[in-house]
Amino acid sequence: MITNNLNDIKSQLPENVTLVAVSKTKPIIDIQEAYDAGQRIFGENKIQEMVMKYDALPKDIEWHMIGHLQRNKVKYMAHFVDLIHGVDSFKTLQEINKQAKKHNRIINCLLQAHIAEEQTKFGLSFEKIREILSSEVLSELKNIKIVGLMGMATFTDNEKQLKKEFLSLNSLFSELQKTNEELIILSMGMSGDYQLAIACGSNMVRIGSSIFGSRNYIA
Ligand SMILES: *Cc1c(COP(=O)(O)O)cnc(C)c1O
Repeated sequence: MITNNLNDIKSQLPENVTLVAVSKTKPIIDIQEAYDAGQRIFGENKIQEMVMKYDALPKDIEWHMIGHLQRNKVKYMAHFVDLIHGVDSFKTLQEINKQAKKHNRIINCLLQAHIAEEQTKFGLSFEKIREILSSEVLSELKNIKIVGLMGMATFTDNEKQLKKEFLSLNSLFSELQKTNEELIILSMGMSGDYQLAIACGSNMVRIGSSIFGSRNYIA
């Protein structure tokens, strides 16, 4: 099942779009199946769960942290995480930098933008993102690299609303790219809305339930 789902989705994705298989709450055996089918990039939203899976699985997997970050736990993943999608404060960037330095690594990060209507979703305002990217202090953080933006749309079936949110993030991305050539990743789109997200400029989709089946609880 997982292999079929994965192949189905991969056959639909344009070549420039990277697939992050979101394996949160799913057991090792499911991830191993996706791995055996060729998938190498996996996304998790809890640091401890990701560390446990990293320890148990092949080391050529790229692990992406897609969840909200607790700063005091960044240290547990600093030796292996490949991309952190959910950075939503300068303080968190400083902590990632500090922990990356201990391992002599440069950790790639995305700034998470708030594009949804729900107040509950995390993320930075567009103003704050512009401010962080243009701040002098950023260049002192040698062990992180901001490589793009991430956004989560409102939980709705309303395509017009979703499109509006995705396009707004895409336009910020294009604007920032003009002065920052390190920005190459626009992470938006999940199981329910990835086709629309891609049509609106996404080049990285985070897909969980359409690959692994529905989760038993909302994570
Ligand atoms: C869980 C999660 C996803 C995947 O959601 P699905 O609807 O299962 O595809 C994508 N992004 C984030 C940030 C998530 O937490």
